[in-house]
Amino acid sequence: MNANNSSRREFLSRLGIGALSIGAIAAVQACGKSEGGAAPKCDDMTGVDDAAKATRASLKYVDKSADPAKTCSKCLQYSAPEGGAACGGCKLFKGPVSADGNCQGFAPKPA
Ligand code: SF4
Repeated sequence: MNANNSSRREFLSRLGIGALSIGAIAAVQACGKSEGGAAPKCDDMTGVDDAAKATRASLKYVDKSADPAKTCSKCLQYSAPEGGAACGGCKLFKGPVSADGNCQGFAPKPA
């Protein structure tokens, strides 16, 4: 074995580790976020009280709006996610909501 073989093997090994690292980062970034039209699941009700759950249900909240013109991100009541979170909030009830979501409380943001 000469120095060139060793160097080539080391290079290919590093290339493989680099590719795995890039794949892992991409998988983490995609986790829980909207991709290809799929809305993130915003259904973690940890710490959300029954009254807020009832309001959410009575307004028929869904993670994916049937009307692209009426999504939470276009609603006056929407609060954008913070700190890299996948889900935002709604001023009408506690709990996570999707930017792609909708409910009967939709009110369009002023143009
Ligand atoms: S009121 Fe409804 S449509 Fe508007 S942000 Fe809240 S959940 Fe979304």
